[in-house]
Amino acid sequence: MTTTSTVSLSSLRSTTSRTGPSPERWRVADVEALFALPFMDLLFRAQQVHRAHFDANEVQLSTLLSIKTGGCAEDCGYCPQSAHHDAGVEAGKLMPLREVVDAAQAAKAQGATRFCMGAAWRSPKARDMERVTDMVREVRALGLETCMTLGMLEAEQARALKDAGLDYYNHNLDSAPEFYGNIIGTRTYQDRLDTLAHVRDAGIHVCCGGIVGMGESRVERAGLIAQLANLDPYPESVPINNLVQVAGTPLAGTEPIDPFEFVRSIAVARIAMPTTMVRLSAGREQMDEALQALCFAAGANSIFYGDKLLTTSNPQAERDRALFERLGLKAKRLQ
Ligand code: SF4
Repeated sequence: MTTTSTVSLSSLRSTTSRTGPSPERWRVADVEALFALPFMDLLFRAQQVHRAHFDANEVQLSTLLSIKTGGCAEDCGYCPQSAHHDAGVEAGKLMPLREVVDAAQAAKAQGATRFCMGAAWRSPKARDMERVTDMVREVRALGLETCMTLGMLEAEQARALKDAGLDYYNHNLDSAPEFYGNIIGTRTYQDRLDTLAHVRDAGIHVCCGGIVGMGESRVERAGLIAQLANLDPYPESVPINNLVQVAGTPLAGTEPIDPFEFVRSIAVARIAMPTTMVRLSAGREQMDEALQALCFAAGANSIFYGDKLLTTSNPQAERDRALFERLGLKAKRLQ
């Protein structure tokens, strides 16, 4: 079978909406064949899939707040918050509820519709659960969608978050199973899959993606996207991060990924998961505007936006607004 015919089969499969158990799985070879398409063909296919499911000129805005920074027990090789690395990030305490609510209000005023709260934990302790569930309730009461990323969850913790009204839980697979062990040693791939299953079983939407540019091969990038697309159902949100190299972390000094390969990763994620929100995440600040525009053309339709909301001037948000205007993009409103 030629590469082209393999891709055609895959594309047909991927544009079928999934209402029940997934009938077929993505083979890594199918995903790799998408990566291998001529760039323009790949972008065209991604646009076709994107337009079949979304307004192509609409982008969802999420704001991220670190509610507990640094001192994390995990050893993720890219992360300056890990206590295993010396990246100069001080370990902080869990932020008081009032400050979280103030930040959420500011995010809403800036146009964000989803507020993501992240804590640098291996997993939340029992004493933390009451405080984070209060945060979910209060942020939701402002009329924002809520998302949290708190590390690994037990089934009972996922249910408590659902009861508090949590809409999304972020827990990334980070990379393909074959590459994962090069980056993280303190939790297994299966640990991550177990947390995702608890989140799904509790009825919370899943936000799950990965990082490219960590020194993985193209096959391993394809392996990550196959893993995500084969989750049943696949995640509602898929953040695709471009490694931000931070001095003091083991991945500082990694050969950066070719920007077009990054755009390819976005396009392939869009084709493999037609109805997911593909989020252009970490690494966006390092991209110029033309590259960001290519990512939107490849099917990215969500960004992290205005993450320094407690300062009065917000140059990043202002730059984003100007870029949206130049591209004729509009912010997605809550349904
Ligand atoms: S679990 Fe999260 S906060 Fe902790 S080291 Fe890994 S990426 Fe960083």
